[in-house]
Amino acid sequence: KVRFDRVTKRFGDQTVLDGLDLAVAPGERVTLIGPSGSGKTTILRLLMTLERVTDGVVHVDGEPFSHMPSGPGGKLVPADERYLAPRRRRVGMVFQQFNLFPHLSVLANVTEAPRHVLGLDADEAAARARDLLGLVGLADKEDAHPTRLSGGQQQRVAIARALAMRPELLLLDEVTSALDPELVAEVLDVLRDVAAGTDITMLCVTHEMAFARDVSDRLLMFDRGRVLESGPPGKLLDAPEHERTREFLRSIR
Ligand code: ATP
Repeated sequence: KVRFDRVTKRFGDQTVLDGLDLAVAPGERVTLIGPSGSGKTTILRLLMTLERVTDGVVHVDGEPFSHMPSGPGGKLVPADERYLAPRRRRVGMVFQQFNLFPHLSVLANVTEAPRHVLGLDADEAAARARDLLGLVGLADKEDAHPTRLSGGQQQRVAIARALAMRPELLLLDEVTSALDPELVAEVLDVLRDVAAGTDITMLCVTHEMAFARDVSDRLLMFDRGRVLESGPPGKLLDAPEHERTREFLRSIR
């Protein structure tokens, strides 16, 4: 589903990803862990095409994502906006900050992109949104404005909004780190339901190890732009091979 081939990302003279190879299978749930600054968010941002690779190629579904084939030989060149726009729709992302449209109702937040990007009519988009608001436990809030909701509720709307585009790939970037501690569980419970109820491919960055253990098929421990070790959550969390991993796990527990 997702493949990074020797991907390097530099910001100025800082190398954030260093020749990274990474493969995520269709339907697989992969969680990225590691110290701050190790490049985890950059991986998600490359998949959202919010950043461009410095070197290497990102593929999604066997298609180049960072690049596009051009000319008779199909030589890869950096992708342009026309190539990226329809592909970006297949990827959903939930951020640490919910970024809801404050002037729109909950329902309108969820129907906005399906209507304007996918061209669904209002009834169809509303039906889809109501299903998803039910899934995230907010069926009774469709007329509310985001500013009247708790952070946990806002994040659940953001999850519904991402799913409304029926993405094949869902990216979750520290979705609970901006929440008050008592609101974390409701958001993680919704995501557990999403993970259990769909076959969507998921890539998460989180410091919530209990959640990572529940939903992930595989954990990747990042260190300085490279994968230091990877494995099933039980193995990586309970019997890590590297001292750096042990140190990191101690630091967040
Ligand atoms: P965190 O847990 O803190 O989000 P991370 O592992 O997700 O860490 P990234 O956010 O991917 O790390 O960032 C890796 C490094 O790249 C950081 O040192 C950051 O300062 C730098 N960086 C990220 N985006 C930019 C940018 N747009 N311009 C310059 N430097 C950037």
